[in-house]
Amino acid sequence: MLLFKQLDLLFTSPKSKRPAGRDPALEEMAYRLLAPLGATSLGERLRVEWSSRLRSAAGRADSRSSRVLLNPRLCACGKEEIDRTLRHELAHLLAAFRAGRRRIDPHGAEWRRACADLGIAGEERCHTLPFPIKRRARPYLYICPNCRRNFPRTKPLRRASACLACCQAHDRGRFDSRFKLQRARVTQLSSRAKPRDPAD
Ligand SMILES: [Zn+2]
Ligand SMILES: [Zn+2]
Repeated sequence: MLLFKQLDLLFTSPKSKRPAGRDPALEEMAYRLLAPLGATSLGERLRVEWSSRLRSAAGRADSRSSRVLLNPRLCACGKEEIDRTLRHELAHLLAAFRAGRRRIDPHGAEWRRACADLGIAGEERCHTLPFPIKRRARPYLYICPNCRRNFPRTKPLRRASACLACCQAHDRGRFDSRFKLQRARVTQLSSRAKPRDPAD
């Protein structure tokens, strides 16, 4: 039944196609940057991962696990920004690799030299944040009148839609108007909302 496509959509979180996990292409690129600098072994064990745990930081380097973490939201900033952030973080790993057991200042002379070797001489010590911290607003909120589950939407629903969980629990998954989603008023700067009469 056609309607079910829409019901399923409601259960699919509307996250955009942001990358997640390891990125073999960026790992390959990192290897190619490091190998000519005499850091082949670092390049071999290095991992580059997209991590949604990063909030406002563009990237992070962990020299103990030889990992570079990148913020998935960087993708919205273009390839150049990804490349620059990767090199910035690689410079942390390269500087630590060269220093061995010696402790170094995170953005000190060793890091600046590593930046120059990686092609980003004069890199700022602070990671610039080319994106806002605020998440994309989903101003339309629908609520199941039965289980009170919330369905935030970026756009209004075009057709009558019912809560899939309740339809499955009470009516073997068939569309049941008792569980028709109701439009709720969204209070500004608040995730809570009060139910309203069915609007659509
Ligand atoms: Zn840094
Ligand atoms: Zn429900």
